[in-house]
Amino acid sequence: MTRIHDTLDAQAAAQGDALALIDAGGTDLSYASLKTASEEAAQLLRSMGVRSGDRVVILAENCAAAVAFIFAASRLGAWAVPVNARLAGPEVDRILAQATPRAVVLTVAVSSDAAAHAERLKAAGRRGAYGDVAVAAPYPSRPEADDEIAVMLFTTGTTGLPKGVMLTHANLRFAGRASAELRGMRPGEIVYGALPMTHVFGLASMVMAASHAGAAIRLEARFSPEALYRALTEGVTLLPAVPQMHALLMQYTQAQGHESLRQGALRYVSSGAAPLDPVWKRKAEAFYGIPLQNGYGMTESSAGISATANRIGDPDISVGRPLPGVEVRIDETVGSGGDGVGEVLTRGPHVMKGYYRNAEETDKTLEPDGWLHTGDLGRIDPEGRLHIVGRAKELIIRGGFNVYPQEVEAALNDHPAVVQAAVVGRRLKGGDEEVLAFVQIREPGCVDEAGLKSHVAQLLSGYKRPERIVIASKLPAAATGKILKQKLIETFERELR
Ligand code: ATP
Ligand code: MG
Repeated sequence: MTRIHDTLDAQAAAQGDALALIDAGGTDLSYASLKTASEEAAQLLRSMGVRSGDRVVILAENCAAAVAFIFAASRLGAWAVPVNARLAGPEVDRILAQATPRAVVLTVAVSSDAAAHAERLKAAGRRGAYGDVAVAAPYPSRPEADDEIAVMLFTTGTTGLPKGVMLTHANLRFAGRASAELRGMRPGEIVYGALPMTHVFGLASMVMAASHAGAAIRLEARFSPEALYRALTEGVTLLPAVPQMHALLMQYTQAQGHESLRQGALRYVSSGAAPLDPVWKRKAEAFYGIPLQNGYGMTESSAGISATANRIGDPDISVGRPLPGVEVRIDETVGSGGDGVGEVLTRGPHVMKGYYRNAEETDKTLEPDGWLHTGDLGRIDPEGRLHIVGRAKELIIRGGFNVYPQEVEAALNDHPAVVQAAVVGRRLKGGDEEVLAFVQIREPGCVDEAGLKSHVAQLLSGYKRPERIVIASKLPAAATGKILKQKLIETFERELR
């Protein structure tokens, strides 16, 4: 079996001097040095008793050490479990109790959150070619027999508690190749590295894709629009990002008076992991001067399912056609029926092995013949492009009519005072649902609920208009910027009264 570290080792052999990681805070690493760093990391793990089938939690923000330990686990046949260090103590503890890792590695050098977790877990400092980390071994070794798994990633937890998704070496090697080929990634190119590599989108489009292509990642522990703006003028050629990052960059550049990006080598910009708003897409393209591609995927599909191949100014906000080797179909028995909308199913080399220690959920999600239920509603247009209209779980049924939150959010986002909007349904007595909107605005007082209501009234038919629009300074979000919708009603309980 070819494992993910074989890809790294092949790059080290072919072009050892080429840059693999450009580390803003630390030193840059060539492919040869990254290989050495991951070998030293593997030695450290071995000395902690890590064996094949053991889980190694890497509690991290992006840095060279996180990359080194992901490949180190692979060298031992162990499972890397990258977890975002920005999660709160109880969230981390829940994941640790589920994963029962033999070793926990914390990227304390780049992350004060990791350092705080290290203190809590009484971790000890270690230094090597991988940098400065802290390690702890809170659980006895309980190796799994399955050595096909390269990485276990926890889902964002947008619709419930995060689930541990088992991804094989074959899954991730496919994802890396698909992502690199989609973008035409070449040796010597620089990928912007602010997506958390503890999330499938960052892991696939940065770590797996760059090691497949022999490109470099410019690592950022945390996203900031200032740093991104600077990086764009300093040789970055590829920018994978979540919609939130584009939105924040647009806000920043507007405030600085930069209308468009004039210098720079940027040639591919993409958005993924969450719905792309048409207004943001338009603004971003005006700034970048190149098309903004939209990619659709999920943790369970090792990231990529489909992606667009748009030209500049294309109004298309579909998520494009399935990636080569990936099958997609629509199950119209789920959802409303009619209009061609149904649940999106996908099959191919990108589909996960299953959820960890959760056979019940795995059986519900994976068909015996390989089809994965995405839980998303979508339709395929006559040109073969997939359109995602929202999650099945989030579909609002009001007075017998379907309301897709994404459509209502787009109408709210269209208002100039709105930074971002989130729409959910709330069950009423009697079974009907009402539409609730939560809106983050540019500055306090620049618009009120009535102003927003009359704005959406011009864009949406009556049954789609929100009963209430709560104005907030901040919406509850995950580390990728994804709004945690199940927390909205609870967070703004007082405002809704
Ligand atoms: P959980 O499964 O724990 O509730 P989650 O589904 O948000 O969390 P992820 O695997 O990170 O966890 O996200 C995948 C989901 O993100 C998809 O199922 C889909 O709903 C959404 N998504 C991803 N890319 C896009 C896109 N380009 N457009 C619209 N939605 C997208
Ligand atoms: Mg999900």
